[in-house]
Amino acid sequence: MKLNRRSFFKVMGATGAAVAGTAAGTALTVQPKEAHGSTGPSISPDAVGCLIDTTLCVGCRKCEQACNKRHHLAKPEESFNEMAVLEKERRPDETSYTIVNKYYPKNIGSLTWRRRPTFVKFQCMHCNDPSCASACIVGALTKEPNGPVIYDAAKCIGCRYCMIACPFQIPAYEYFNALDPEVRKCTFCFEYIKKEGGLPACAQVCPREVITFGKRSDLLELAHWKMKNDPGKYVDHIYGEHEVGGTSWLYLASEPFETIGFPELGTKAPPRLTEAIQHGLFQYFAAPIGLYAVLGGIMWATGFYGKKHSFKE
Ligand code: SF4
Ligand code: SF4
Ligand code: SF4
Repeated sequence: MKLNRRSFFKVMGATGAAVAGTAAGTALTVQPKEAHGSTGPSISPDAVGCLIDTTLCVGCRKCEQACNKRHHLAKPEESFNEMAVLEKERRPDETSYTIVNKYYPKNIGSLTWRRRPTFVKFQCMHCNDPSCASACIVGALTKEPNGPVIYDAAKCIGCRYCMIACPFQIPAYEYFNALDPEVRKCTFCFEYIKKEGGLPACAQVCPREVITFGKRSDLLELAHWKMKNDPGKYVDHIYGEHEVGGTSWLYLASEPFETIGFPELGTKAPPRLTEAIQHGLFQYFAAPIGLYAVLGGIMWATGFYGKKHSFKE
């Protein structure tokens, strides 16, 4: 195997890479990409997104299957027709860019009449100001002006800062791939949606039309219209409208979002914090101990501790 800079870092692993990078000095210098300015990336007013109306979802898992097929991902042990998997809360991983979870009603009061569980499809939120992209020291993750946050495996050195920085704990790593592992996450079917009429596979297949694809601004208008025209059906909150500076994927629900697997996040994007890595580690060659302090701060700020296996805090 030819050991280039990228594969060297990947084989060394994140900790080893950080230490080796400091020790090796200029021989392995990685040029940091330009850090985001304080205003974040510029998003086109025509940027696209998806609106997920969780009240329509029946948990059929067709979206999971369509995503698996389109991206040639490994087949799961359990068939996509197996509904028992919904009884356990799952998260996207390196072989499942999207998963559907089932949440039983927990609330009382005005919502007690709702007996059916809520099904929620999760995937990368394609944040407007993505922490994963800001944390990435080599620019392997980028926010496209039209919405998707995409990954370039050719640039990735396997440091996995993106995994720590993401407030939704989305990026997954191919630990099983010893020689050339990649970070994996929902691509927003980038190659398809840039074509005229192209749709994300999940949106295309959904038999209940849970997922509406379109301009983010139109989706927000649609979401507000739905809430206004069906009073009492939805909680007064469009998840992703403001969270972490806004996301391309938006959600409507009949239950408070914190009861159906969504983390409670502020309106400010965490990237401002993750920029410390780029400025500190590779520009000034901070000691590993400083790096760990920065990573610890990011993990605390994004609620990484305590939600390892859940979207919820
Ligand atoms: S295909 Fe549609 S209805 Fe079925 S689980 Fe996915 S989002 Fe829900
Ligand atoms: S959800 Fe996570 S992986 Fe997706 S764009 Fe946002 S920060 Fe990046
Ligand atoms: S947008 Fe594409 S990659 Fe993302 S969950 Fe849907 S089908 Fe999978």
